[in-house]
Amino acid sequence: MSPARVRFAPSPTGYLHIGGVRTALFNWLWARSVGGAFVLRIEDTDQERSTPESVKIILDSMKWLGLTWDEGPDVGGAHGPYFQMQRLAIYKDFSEKLITNKKAYRCFCTKEELDVQRAAVKERDPKAQFRYPGTCRDRANQPDKPFVVRFRMPDGGSVKYIDRVFGEIVTPNGAQQDFVLVRSDGVPLYNFGAVVDDLTMGITLVARGRDHMVNTPPQILIYEALDVAPPEFAHLPMMLAPSGEKLSKRHGAVSVTEYRDQGYSPEAVLNYLARFGWSHGDQEVFSRDELVAAFNWEACGKGDGKFDTKKFLAIQHEHLKSERLTSTKRYAESVVPFLDQRGLANITTDRVEAIVPGVRERATTFVEAANGMDFFFRDPPEMDQKAVQKFLTPESASKLDALHALYAGVELWTEAELDHRTHAWLEAQNLQIKDVAQPARVALTGRSASPGLYLVLFLLGKERALKRLAESAMLARGNGS
Ligand code: GLU
Repeated sequence: MSPARVRFAPSPTGYLHIGGVRTALFNWLWARSVGGAFVLRIEDTDQERSTPESVKIILDSMKWLGLTWDEGPDVGGAHGPYFQMQRLAIYKDFSEKLITNKKAYRCFCTKEELDVQRAAVKERDPKAQFRYPGTCRDRANQPDKPFVVRFRMPDGGSVKYIDRVFGEIVTPNGAQQDFVLVRSDGVPLYNFGAVVDDLTMGITLVARGRDHMVNTPPQILIYEALDVAPPEFAHLPMMLAPSGEKLSKRHGAVSVTEYRDQGYSPEAVLNYLARFGWSHGDQEVFSRDELVAAFNWEACGKGDGKFDTKKFLAIQHEHLKSERLTSTKRYAESVVPFLDQRGLANITTDRVEAIVPGVRERATTFVEAANGMDFFFRDPPEMDQKAVQKFLTPESASKLDALHALYAGVELWTEAELDHRTHAWLEAQNLQIKDVAQPARVALTGRSASPGLYLVLFLLGKERALKRLAESAMLARGNGS
């Protein structure tokens, strides 16, 4: 068996939709799990809608997700170019070959002629579908006249293939007309471009959404007309909105960059998408390596899935909580850009790393994590006015003074020592931690929710902690006056 070669072939007409990422992911997982090649091809033949900005968004999104490609834009490869508009000469060669072998023909019918025929069909039966009647099948060549290249559909028979997910699929040929392969400007239509590219790029398995299933029989007919064996096919169930409609912007974020900007972990995104149409027992949480190790087509299901924002966030949270899935270092590196966005100064990965253990249990996204760490990097901290009103009351001022005095005397500034000294003092005062925790928390962080108190004290350092306690005691004294 030749080594597996799979591809992802997006059209650069907008952002990278997460449904597209699921397709890319399954191809990538397969390539990585069997040691094959993952090819990225840009299908930019819709010249009106394709843009260089969109190509950039697609490449950036793929890079962010870590879906590295072995051949394609930026990296090159032996089967390039990897942009369809740079391959027009290749399509021409193949269409000429089909014409020579009478598997395709030049069609000189003008749009006006076809419109007249279409109107006549509609007049006879408004519900009827116009099918090109094959006018030019045996027409003589008409030099200097523009033409499209049409496929000569076999008169009978059917196409049969074994889909790796859906099993045996049989489609009678009668359902197709002599479809166009190449337009008069030399640009191929999707089916022809895809076949020529998959063939010349040595693709062994084509995996894509099941919305492309209708294209597979005509594509197989083109392979047959070219006298080559088609690749294998695997069609994937659809990702739908909760309502059962096609998943679109109306149902929430569907572009990869939105998830990146909302502070999702790329691995969590892949993890969630992997579970659309694929399962591995009842395991829900996977690292990238675990996905690669466990992936196979046999475990892909046929049923469409519904996008579930809550579940997505829950998986994302699991990834952020777990040191195994998101190491402290990677966590810190991921939060830094969001801290920068908040206009905070002196952000270094080392300083962020120190505080990650304090926020990772609570934060569901890196954006939330940056928010939770803000107090640590901002002097003075931003004070949540609700928390100030509620907890920095005049009665709390003396407690904050007492804590200030207590901590001023602590020489060994460690979490354990701070914990120990605080409890000894509470006991002597006949107080409980709940009597002082919230005022102290608000004083030190400006918020009523934060990492553990001793961790906060430790991370702030003695000088900053004492300053915040003193300033808040003053604030508390003035509160209510
Ligand atoms: N350019 C097509 C799309 O974006 C690719 C389909 C295929 O994978 O064959 O839907």
